[in-house]
Amino acid sequence: MPSDEIDKTLFAAATNLPISNGNTARFWDSPWADGRRPKDAMPLAYAISKRKGKSLRQGKENDSWVGDLDLEAIPPITLELIDQLVALWIAARNVHLSDEQPDQIGWKFTSDRHYSASSAYQAQCFGGSSTTFDSLIWKVWAPGKCKLHAWLIIQNRVWTFDRLTTRGWQNNICCPFCKRDDETALHLVAECRYSKRIWTSIASWVGSQLLEPGHWAATQSVLEWLENLANMAEVPKKGLRTLILLVVWEIWKERNQRIFEHKESTTTYPLAKIKEEARLWMLVGAKRLRELLPLLV
Ligand SMILES: [Zn+2]
Repeated sequence: MPSDEIDKTLFAAATNLPISNGNTARFWDSPWADGRRPKDAMPLAYAISKRKGKSLRQGKENDSWVGDLDLEAIPPITLELIDQLVALWIAARNVHLSDEQPDQIGWKFTSDRHYSASSAYQAQCFGGSSTTFDSLIWKVWAPGKCKLHAWLIIQNRVWTFDRLTTRGWQNNICCPFCKRDDETALHLVAECRYSKRIWTSIASWVGSQLLEPGHWAATQSVLEWLENLANMAEVPKKGLRTLILLVVWEIWKERNQRIFEHKESTTTYPLAKIKEEARLWMLVGAKRLRELLPLLV
């Protein structure tokens, strides 16, 4: 049956492919990565792959999809590209192939995996992201790249790029700030003494003691930490949520600068960047941020 790109996209969105041996599923074209096709979910990574027709098994074997990336075709490496590569890398690691069963395609929205019209209708009405993500990230005023990054970091998907680039897999890579603790997403944005110094300055700009790391409740995950911080009493929430995304973004950029460019700055630099960006964001529409940081205008 002839099908165009739209048909393929719809089909991919409505079906899933419980992966068995990985021979039928295509590495880029089958929805095996959290129910999505890597081609759609990681388009920048897809664009630089030299071999797009591999089966999932072929692509996954020895991380051969990484070897297929055309590194010379990469324009300056963008954070979006890094995020996509990391997400794909983790998804590929998490897919386990069995040797016997062939892959079988099934309809996503019914328990017996057969198509029904009512389930198709319900699927269209069902929003894709949870309320928490909506209110903490997607509906917050911030550039798209900052939102995407925050969403990835919540799922612990951004912090292992160094492991992706080094061939020898190493565990326990140290935090590039304190060079003492393991680098987890939570450590990086909230627990490291370097990041805490940044948050302390932010708390004093905003004039809220509650925002100081010393007043935070202990948390186990980035999501929990973000929920606590973003719902802090006394502070106007919308502006605060924009500010949090900005701070997390600048911490991440400083972290990358240390890893990829071997440049280290004291907290003065990211703090100056945060102020500069905050002014810019206010100019182009972040009104709620202006309420939060009137002295910056
Ligand atoms: Zn640290």
